[in-house]
Amino acid sequence: MNILVINCGSSSLKFQLIDAVSEKLIAKGLCERIGIDGSRIVYQPAGGEKQITETPMPDHNKAIQLVLDALTNAETGVVKSLSEIGAVGHRIVHGGEKFASSVVITEDVISAIEECSDLAPLHNPANLIGVRACQNIMPGTPMVAVFDTAFHQTMPEEAYIYGIPYRYYEKYKVRRYGFHGTSHSYVSKRAAGVLGEDIGKLKLIVCHLGNGASVSAVKYGKSVDTSMGLTPLEGLIMGTRSGDLDPAIIEFIAHKEGKSLEEVMQILNKESGVLGLSDQFSSDFRDLEDSYQQGKPEGTRAMKAFAYRVAKYIGAYTAAMNGVDGICFTAGLGENSPLIREMICGYLGYLGVALDPEQNAKRGEDLVVSTKDSGTKILVIPTNEELAIARETYALVK
Ligand code: ADP
Repeated sequence: MNILVINCGSSSLKFQLIDAVSEKLIAKGLCERIGIDGSRIVYQPAGGEKQITETPMPDHNKAIQLVLDALTNAETGVVKSLSEIGAVGHRIVHGGEKFASSVVITEDVISAIEECSDLAPLHNPANLIGVRACQNIMPGTPMVAVFDTAFHQTMPEEAYIYGIPYRYYEKYKVRRYGFHGTSHSYVSKRAAGVLGEDIGKLKLIVCHLGNGASVSAVKYGKSVDTSMGLTPLEGLIMGTRSGDLDPAIIEFIAHKEGKSLEEVMQILNKESGVLGLSDQFSSDFRDLEDSYQQGKPEGTRAMKAFAYRVAKYIGAYTAAMNGVDGICFTAGLGENSPLIREMICGYLGYLGVALDPEQNAKRGEDLVVSTKDSGTKILVIPTNEELAIARETYALVK
């Protein structure tokens, strides 16, 4: 069965068509600038050439129609008709406490996702626009919602509760949820496979280090803690997000700079992280690594603070699980930067960690990058959130 995986944002829509049985990618692409001038669709069949077509996309219905036209195109398409698409898997950012696993989408599910929109006002409504557009154009095709938060619903209360009046949890569900759950789940399962062990017996730490970044503690296959909170702003220093800070800073900066709450939150989300630490030099770790290698202060400051924060979380989660068997690196930076792995592992001597420099220099595959004698295994596992969504979807509709 072919599964269409959709990741819909407010003005963009990423898609992949995956054969759920062979788990092979059939085609992928994205629509950009939906509802804005200069919209375009990028489409690429597996092994084929990338096609970029500029065409008006006033709304998401049009975008989905163009995706389906591209997939069924007589010359460059990959399926003969829409009947060859068995189901659609939608990435939904926030499932609140309502969803601890993926679900087949019904009207009740859509209402429940709408109710979670308070918690992710930028993401959930955009995700639902994608669901509605697909329902309009493919009525009768089953759809599944796969949530970024679901995997972390196994966190115990002591890990998810904030030290603020309990009534805010009761009234508004203010608590830690965590994100990147699809990736943390996929990578932890895969790591168990690479280690040849039963995930039910392993204590793993997964470091998803991309532009957005989070760490999770996965004990015996279940998430027991993760670094993002009510929103993705908490935790690690990220590309442009601050991560953890003293909340008093918000009032302090607002007061000193004459800014509103909204303006300060915008700064913490968009101008902070390694971008802020490098004095607005770059949020891209490739630039920061160059700067660090040249001994310049911008990249050095940002890279060191980033690595230190990850190492602190690894220490915290080792304590939370009373030990750790394997530490996994994934996502853009975690998969592609031997340097950042080396800097982070430099803090882990107390775990007996020893990196194998030759293994650590490789990329593009599942790898154990620690030496045979290393006290804790270090792994690099390329994440594949789309495949994980296709698997979840297939499991529910087959
Ligand atoms: P997201 O999905 O959150 O946008 P990604 O997982 O695509 O992020 O990761 C993007 C980050 O990965 C960027 O900061 C980018 O610089 C970094 N990255 C990608 N390739 C490399 C590389 N070869 N070396 C260092 N960093 C890299």
